[in-house]
Amino acid sequence: MFRIGIGHDTHRLVDGRPLILGGVHVCAERGAAGHSDADALSHAIADAILGALSEGDLGVHFPDSDPQWKDVDSLDLLSRVMWLAHERGLSVVNVDATILLEAPAIRPYVQSMRERLAEVLGVDLACVSVKAKTGEGLDAVGQGQAVTAQAAVLMASV
Ligand SMILES: [Zn+2]
Repeated sequence: MFRIGIGHDTHRLVDGRPLILGGVHVCAERGAAGHSDADALSHAIADAILGALSEGDLGVHFPDSDPQWKDVDSLDLLSRVMWLAHERGLSVVNVDATILLEAPAIRPYVQSMRERLAEVLGVDLACVSVKAKTGEGLDAVGQGQAVTAQAAVLMASV
């Protein structure tokens, strides 16, 4: 059996916060606002997996009203989502994701992101794709006010 899921996440960029994407600290002027570590890439992938399981979204499983998830490492949330997937007898086949961020250029960080995500998802590096785009100076991403991530995941019975 195969299952497919998509995920989408946006966080506001603000002063005084770190910018973490795919579990990797990106050296940036502004960071992402959020209850957890605000890792939009990990959140989009986790949401895609939950979507493949028809299990709602991250907010259902890890509500931002719960102090337990304050500043939590989102790779930790992702591994909890993977635990749920394994409970359902499903594992990840491959993930394709896109990060939308105006600055800085994140291409130098992409390899580390793929390595960290592949480890948590339990797949080979070749099964994790992370692409980088800007907002071309348009919309909230283009104006440097937000970071967005999109992800698609294919899962299969173990
Ligand atoms: Zn998020």
